[in-house]
Amino acid sequence: MQITFRGAARTVTGSMHEIQTGSRRFLLDCGMYQGRRSESAERNTNFPFPPSEVDALLLSHAHIDHSGNIPNLTSKGFGGPIFTTPATIDLCNSMLQDSAFIQEKDAEFLNRRTSRRRRVIDEPEREPVAPLYTVNDAKAAMAQFRAVEMHSRTEVLPGVFSTTHEAGHMLGSTFLELELEGKRLVFSGDVGRKNLPIIRDPERAVAADILIMESTYGDRLHQPLAHAKEKLAAIINGTANRGGEDHRAGVRGGADAAVGADDSRVDSRGTDQ
Ligand SMILES: [Zn+2]
Repeated sequence: MQITFRGAARTVTGSMHEIQTGSRRFLLDCGMYQGRRSESAERNTNFPFPPSEVDALLLSHAHIDHSGNIPNLTSKGFGGPIFTTPATIDLCNSMLQDSAFIQEKDAEFLNRRTSRRRRVIDEPEREPVAPLYTVNDAKAAMAQFRAVEMHSRTEVLPGVFSTTHEAGHMLGSTFLELELEGKRLVFSGDVGRKNLPIIRDPERAVAADILIMESTYGDRLHQPLAHAKEKLAAIINGTANRGGEDHRAGVRGGADAAVGADDSRVDSRGTDQ
């Protein structure tokens, strides 16, 4: 077995790990790298392996830094199954199309800006920027998703078994217990915290021979949950006071409560008024 960290190593976003076992190759997550525009375009566009040579993808959860490059992988030739929970499939269906829409608008904006500049300062002609992937790519990718229920054990490739466990990070989030080559490999995905409203508590990891673990907040202690509520109340009140709206379904990193709110005011104790 060979494990290669293709993303979210020495950086936070773009989670993607490649496992080779015998003649097979599969990926754990296929996230979008989010950074400076030129560096992001380079890292997201070009895969360090031919996508057509990947046999399967196992997706821990729907956040874009874990799932956001899937339509690019499928449109470039990956034709295998994408195993994840039903809730993650539902979320990806909306989130990947939304991400594609942003990619398309971003490319349109850059091309408009280039042609405007060319008219004004007579710049040499440049290749138009193409979106990383389109809404149609995102829709097409959904056909490759395969639903696996939480706590089920699935043979994802011949001789490779994956069992999903609750990660408590967001709706449908999992950590994965893989069995291959007589070894047990646990991939944590993003790990949630206990006692959050709505989201289930993370389960305890099983015994592992190999552990791949996210460590984004590994050097920090979380603030108590009450602090998250105060912070959220401050954001919502600040937005409302500026006359804006805050349609917030969750806060990145799973550190904070997932609270739905529109432009209604929330006091510092976190109660709707
Ligand atoms: Zn996440």
